[in-house]
Amino acid sequence: MANIRFDGRSVIITGAGRGLGRAYALEIAGRGGKVVVNDLGAADDGSKAAAESVVDEIRALGGEAVADFNSVSTPEGAAALIATAVKAFGKVDVVINNAGILRDASILKLTPETFGAVLDVHLLGSFYVSQAAFGLMKAQGYGRLVFTTSAAGLYGNFGQANYSAAKLGIVGLANVLAVEGAKNNIKSNVIAPGAKTRMTSMFGDVMDKLAPECVAPMVAYLASEQCEETHSIYSAAGSKYSRVFIAETPGWVSTGDTIPTAEEIAAKIGAIRDEKGYCVPRFMGDYPKM
Ligand code: NAD
Repeated sequence: MANIRFDGRSVIITGAGRGLGRAYALEIAGRGGKVVVNDLGAADDGSKAAAESVVDEIRALGGEAVADFNSVSTPEGAAALIATAVKAFGKVDVVINNAGILRDASILKLTPETFGAVLDVHLLGSFYVSQAAFGLMKAQGYGRLVFTTSAAGLYGNFGQANYSAAKLGIVGLANVLAVEGAKNNIKSNVIAPGAKTRMTSMFGDVMDKLAPECVAPMVAYLASEQCEETHSIYSAAGSKYSRVFIAETPGWVSTGDTIPTAEEIAAKIGAIRDEKGYCVPRFMGDYPKM
């Protein structure tokens, strides 16, 4: 395989002032990409904006980057972020939707505000930025979209109903953009990362072996011209890289003349659940044969 390079490519990475986004920014800038480091927060030591500190790191290593301080959680912020990229680098080739926050609470303690705030950044933020970039990508016949989900969204986690709903919603958004982008060489994939960052500091020592830098090669591949894959979810955590998918079992086909009763469904639940011979549909309607 030829070296993966981003020479001439304009790459937006949201929430890239620390953690995983910072690792992606350094990886892609190190491979020749022109990176827009977006983040609305301050650096951990409070001395400057987080995005600015990552831009400084990239420039010190000889790379090219600009900082952007807009929030992805409003259409205006997303539009201004796209404008930053176009002004600095003339176009947008790649968007890595990574910005995120947590407002954990178990279901009875969640409020519309804590639910909405998480949806605003993760799901709506991914929508606003990707929609604004999609038109440019379509016009130029090239684009790479990387979205960020989480094991919490894919499998469920106590106290994270808001976060999990947003993170699985992102999978739906990414799947549709894979289908809608297919004609225009726009690939859309999802990363489910696991890494020690500010966001996962509550997990303590168990995260010690999971450096954000371990996730960066997978994301760089998904963001690259070499990536011919689309419509897929990948997990990267520490030294393990895998694929996650949504599948359907062959199921049980009722052959009687009448609609089966609830009791018949109960009797067949083992066959309905049986995972043997499952299918991974590529779009709505791509069901297993009956
Ligand atoms: P982090 O807290 O270190 O970084 C997230 C960054 O997003 C912060 O710098 C923050 O300022 C920025 N941000 C928040 N709201 C923003 C907004 N509205 N606009 C722009 N920037 C904003 O967290 P991280 O662990 O690096 O997480 C990155 C992504 O990976 C998130 O989407 C998170 O949900 C996801 N994720 C992380 C893990 C993990 O193990 N760290 C696991 C699963 C998913």
